[in-house]
Amino acid sequence: MDFNLNEDQQAFADVAAQFARQALAPHAAQWDKDHTFPVDTLRQAGELGFCGLYTPEEDGGLGLSRLDASIIFEQLAMGCTATTAMLTIHNMATWMLASYGQATMKDTWLPDLVSGNKLASYCLTEPGAGSDAASLTTKAERQGDQYVLSGSKVFISGAGSTDLLIVMARTANNGAKGISAFAVPADAAGISYGKPEEKMGWNAQPTRMITF
Ligand SMILES: Cc1cc2nc3c(=O)[nH]c(=O)nc-3n(C[C@H](O)[C@H](O)[C@H](O)COP(=O)(O)OP(=O)(O)OC[C@H]3O[C@@H](n4cnc5c(N)ncnc54)[C@H](O)[C@@H]3O)c2cc1C
Repeated sequence: MDFNLNEDQQAFADVAAQFARQALAPHAAQWDKDHTFPVDTLRQAGELGFCGLYTPEEDGGLGLSRLDASIIFEQLAMGCTATTAMLTIHNMATWMLASYGQATMKDTWLPDLVSGNKLASYCLTEPGAGSDAASLTTKAERQGDQYVLSGSKVFISGAGSTDLLIVMARTANNGAKGISAFAVPADAAGISYGKPEEKMGWNAQPTRMITF
């Protein structure tokens, strides 16, 4: 097996390393100290394609593999781990919407998400459901032509500062198979955000509880 990076992977890694050196590393300590969520820098990352790394090309992303994305994240994380973690989450949420979202939601959100103009949070963890994600209890109940979500999510990266929430919620009582994902505008009625969690490091991204 050949473990060397191919030419494209090396080129992406070089661009990511340069971005990490120039746009992340010089600010990382200050962002952590001041609890700054560097939205403008995330947007700059979007200009390089880093907000839609494995989102398909037809949806505006770069269409890379997960391995390619990991090579890029590895380089970025050397500049600022917390900001890169937020980028990994945003990429995951953006890919989910591109892969499984309804056409209207995709049209509304994807151009801004892949460009980094808007940011997305991934809402899985709950007070009683961490590693065992299949035990989550947040419910989505159909009422007419809408779903109404009720429950709480904890430790959500970017919460309170992002624009779209991808929320995993229970639509049936059969374990992991009864969980659906919902794309919810972060300012939708009935959503409230908790205070920022106190963390050891990782302060360049807010982490909050969300209640639906
Ligand atoms: C800074 C930060 C940001 C986060 N951002 C997000 C986010 O954006 N979205 C989101 O959904 N979640 C987020 N999380 C939550 C994170 O995914 C959870 O903390 C993680 O899934 C673990 O869940 P838990 O904290 O409930 O720990 P637990 O599941 O209670 O685990 C505690 C410990 O027990 C171990 N353990 C658990 N089950 C077993 C088992 N069966 N066998 C052996 N060992 C076991 C675990 O490895 C761990 O060491 C974030 C967390 C942090 C700290």
